[in-house]
Amino acid sequence: MVFHVLTIFPDFFRGPFEHGVVARAAAAGKIRLEVHDLRNWTTDRHRTVDDRPFGGGEGMVLKAEPIFRAAEAIFPERGPARRIILMSPQGRLFDQAAARRLSRLDELLLLAGRYEGVDERVAERLADEELSIGDYVLSGGELAAAVVIDAVARLLDGVLGNQDSALRESFGGGAEGPGLLDCPQYTRPAGFRGWQAPEVLLSGNHEEVRRWRLEAAIEKTARMRPELLEKWKSRVER
Ligand code: SAM
Repeated sequence: MVFHVLTIFPDFFRGPFEHGVVARAAAAGKIRLEVHDLRNWTTDRHRTVDDRPFGGGEGMVLKAEPIFRAAEAIFPERGPARRIILMSPQGRLFDQAAARRLSRLDELLLLAGRYEGVDERVAERLADEELSIGDYVLSGGELAAAVVIDAVARLLDGVLGNQDSALRESFGGGAEGPGLLDCPQYTRPAGFRGWQAPEVLLSGNHEEVRRWRLEAAIEKTARMRPELLEKWKSRVER
């Protein structure tokens, strides 16, 4: 899968994509990351990407023209397997189901806003959708785009060592719907400052471990995210 990001800060992505699962997936050719500098699609001497908002008010707004020009150059043809997404706190909330849906695409172009945001014609006339990573306001869409890329990349075939890991993780209910939170995990030493890891995990009895993990996942989901537990219950009771 190819991930494109359009940004005024292309160097921002040096860090996030040079480590761990995403870096290994790129090195193995499972994904390609293309970071595009929005200023390359400006036409004036100052490479202007922003302007004052009509109607007055604080701050600057990213202009529509360079964003349209860039998107049309990156995707000369559109299609169902290629989507353009505007990162925005006003978008639908990004969750694991959205990550799964996006992981079925061939190419994704993420538009990272800055300042007071992006000329609304980008949301209305260019982007297929707006996505928010949470109900808070970031200074720019770059962090949000990196979050989406990480969450989607690890769902692609061959990216995680074990294909089933993503299904067993938090929210990992697969195509059928929402899952539980992951069960608590422990590692050596079994005793740490007098706090003991659950005995059953050291027992070597796979059936008992499996049962304990399911119960622990249900307990933790009930405590941390009761609304998820309700959704999970109605799915397994169906
Ligand atoms: N004035 C906008 C508002 O109140 O809705 C906020 C603009 S924000 C400071 C600048 C950019 O950061 C946005 O255009 C968007 O690309 C990105 N951004 C901020 N919060 C975000 C979030 N929760 N999810 C995704 N992108 C976000």
